[in-house]
Amino acid sequence: MDGTRGVVAVVVAADSPTGRVATAIDDLTAHLPAAGQQSSCSVCSARSWPCPLFHDAAHRVIAAGLRLADLVPVDLHPRLWPPAATQQPRWFSEETSNG
Ligand SMILES: [Zn+2]
Repeated sequence: MDGTRGVVAVVVAADSPTGRVATAIDDLTAHLPAAGQQSSCSVCSARSWPCPLFHDAAHRVIAAGLRLADLVPVDLHPRLWPPAATQQPRWFSEETSNG
């Protein structure tokens, strides 16, 4: 087992919210850690995760109105949204950015 995550291809309308950020979703998925290695990006192997390229892709996904949590494997959610976090990371506060 090399820990590589499985992926699926989905067909969506190009002018749908998801279709408009398909490249960002590809980038986001490419920069997920390998299964069982939640602390390092599988592409930017020397960097800790979330890596800058994941951040960038996540920003684009959130800006398009999509839910980041729906695109990230559940085992990685605690890393992005720590249960004991007393302060919210700026870029994950999807609920509060409805301005
Ligand atoms: Zn990366």
